[in-house]
Amino acid sequence: MSEPSVFTRIYNGEIPSEIIAETENAFAIRDIAPKAPVHLLVIPKTQDYRDVVELAAGDPALLAEMVGLANTLAHEQTGGDFRLVFNTGADAGQTVFHVHAHVLGGGLSEGSLG
Ligand code: 5GP
Repeated sequence: MSEPSVFTRIYNGEIPSEIIAETENAFAIRDIAPKAPVHLLVIPKTQDYRDVVELAAGDPALLAEMVGLANTLAHEQTGGDFRLVFNTGADAGQTVFHVHAHVLGGGLSEGSLG
């Protein structure tokens, strides 16, 4: 089995970070380095999938569960509109290879991805 990822260690309480919400198979935290007024991470409790491509192929229901949790949190924290980002691969900026969705919201209406 691979080493626990930073997100597994957060979920297990080994690294401090508030779990702001959870469903049966996923949980959410605030990103430690926010890139938007609201910047959350929605993460499967399993680290079996390294990126969204593997997740979509292996457990599409879990991907749908993550999208649902992102939507719920966006309605609570940003009024409902949000950007969902899955960095996929190191050259795209992925640094943690335990799939996670960035949920970005609040004042993004100019539409820049920068
Ligand atoms: P990636 O670059 O893999 O798409 O996203 C990883 C994200 O995890 C980054 O935005 C980074 O700021 C966040 N992150 C890394 N370590 C921690 C941590 O210990 N706590 C929290 N809350 N976020 C983290």
